[in-house]
Amino acid sequence: MKEKLSPTGILKVGVCRICGCTEHDPCFNPHHGFCWWADATRTICSHCADPAIAEDPFTVHCVNSEKVKPYAPED
Ligand SMILES: [Zn+2]
Ligand SMILES: [Zn+2]
Repeated sequence: MKEKLSPTGILKVGVCRICGCTEHDPCFNPHHGFCWWADATRTICSHCADPAIAEDPFTVHCVNSEKVKPYAPED
């Protein structure tokens, strides 16, 4: 019987394990720009790995998911 290895417990490459951001849905900080991968395996981003950025109130994680609409008037 062949069993496929379950992906459970294996970190997903290209997705931040802290905030869940991806290259298409990055985090942003006005002082540091968009996040980058803080490790070689691409499982944690700079804006989570670096406390100075992570604790910055201006840091927004997963900007596309947040759907931030700055000053956008709504009807
Ligand atoms: Zn992150
Ligand atoms: Zn990020």
